[in-house]
Amino acid sequence: MKLMIMGPPGAGKGTQAEQIVKELKITHISTGDMFRAAIKAGTEMGKKAKEYMDKGQLVPDEVVVGMVKERLSQSDCANGFLLDGFPRTVAQADSLSKILDQLGIKFDGVINIEVPRERLMARLTGRRVCKGCGASYHVIFNAPKKEGVCNTCGGELYQRSDDNEATVSNRLDVYEGQTQPLIDYYKERGLLLNINGDQDIKLVLKDVMAALKK
Ligand SMILES: [Zn+2]
Repeated sequence: MKLMIMGPPGAGKGTQAEQIVKELKITHISTGDMFRAAIKAGTEMGKKAKEYMDKGQLVPDEVVVGMVKERLSQSDCANGFLLDGFPRTVAQADSLSKILDQLGIKFDGVINIEVPRERLMARLTGRRVCKGCGASYHVIFNAPKKEGVCNTCGGELYQRSDDNEATVSNRLDVYEGQTQPLIDYYKERGLLLNINGDQDIKLVLKDVMAALKK
């Protein structure tokens, strides 16, 4: 299976990606890992990427795309892979499509983990941090025994500014603005698999497997 996965912040994409590659015995290609490995191995594209990063510049699309091509050509991708974190734009998707053609690879599907916005807001704004000891809590997933009070030191819990509604809402806006064209792109090509991410992790995986069988 040659797949790609996408999903908004807070959708649990990372966890799902891990489960999917384990279940299908395919290679997980996350962009961050790919960057680190290419730089460490000193591949042609890895060297180029490092030049930009050392200068504190954004690595241009052509280098990222070149790195994906290097990565997909490696033998551990022959039986399948899950691309995670790439492409992020339609331009990148177009470049990727050309690479896949060159390599004679056909995508089997693009997994799109969907979670309603209000649920994402709840997940992403729920973190609370202790002023006393720095312990981290979540009002839904890891609630303190007493609201607003640290279990360990009795310190006051507060919400960090990057977890507040406005910041999180903005992050989701940016994601949606960037990703909607990409969703349309893969939908038009008949590759999009919308998966309900607002349920138990095991059920999400089950839905992914069912969608891939179709
Ligand atoms: Zn504490």
